[in-house]
Amino acid sequence: MKLTAFHKLSYGLYIIATEADGKKFGYIGNTVFQVTSEPSQVVISSHKNNFTTSKILESKKFSISVLKKEVNTSLIGIFGFMSGADMDKFNNIETISSVTGAPIVTGSSVAWFDCRVVNSFDVGSHILILGEVVDSDVISGGEPLTYRHYREKYKMLAPKNAPTYVDKEKLESETVPEPVVKIEVKEESVSEKAAEDLSSYTCKICGFQYNPEEGDPAMGIPPGTPFEDLPEDYRCPICNASKEYFSKND
Ligand code: FE
Repeated sequence: MKLTAFHKLSYGLYIIATEADGKKFGYIGNTVFQVTSEPSQVVISSHKNNFTTSKILESKKFSISVLKKEVNTSLIGIFGFMSGADMDKFNNIETISSVTGAPIVTGSSVAWFDCRVVNSFDVGSHILILGEVVDSDVISGGEPLTYRHYREKYKMLAPKNAPTYVDKEKLESETVPEPVVKIEVKEESVSEKAAEDLSSYTCKICGFQYNPEEGDPAMGIPPGTPFEDLPEDYRCPICNASKEYFSKND
């Protein structure tokens, strides 16, 4: 079986959210599809380990915010790589609600759907949740974000709970490695760097480790660059989190 064949399937990216006991929950999903038009029904595929999944089944409602191509990538870091069990993902996130009360994220969306849960199907790691659309609207005429664009532009992987998640090592074994660009480091700069802090740092969102000795050539960061010297707009190559989400390793 060729795992990269799955990358030829087309998807969008959405924030799936609900509200239960006055609290809001949500995650980034790429599986939303319309299954009937009369009545208008959609299905989402939601991982059993997603905190939001149980809340959707409990509250019997969910919203779908269709992300736009120029998405604020911090939304993907928060909703795709953090758990609602540990934090309020909706802190500082502007939402509206419609018929069911499920929160709709408007800031980076082109459209939304408000749904009532009609049925659910256990398919192993995930639960397919069938919802009747009770309201919907278009926010802007912009282009929706596709999963392909997300993967290619932001170089991000699917979060582990996504139905499309593929083990990175398995994927790399199928991928032809890109040529490594050799970066010349001058002798004097090496000795200058020796006095600098070459501690590694971990992204608190996805676990990516920045190792100064290796740098991040894919992002144009040469080997030997201390974390402190990374540009302020440096982003985690995995989940796109900004520098403030990194912590120093002991
Ligand atoms: Fe990260």
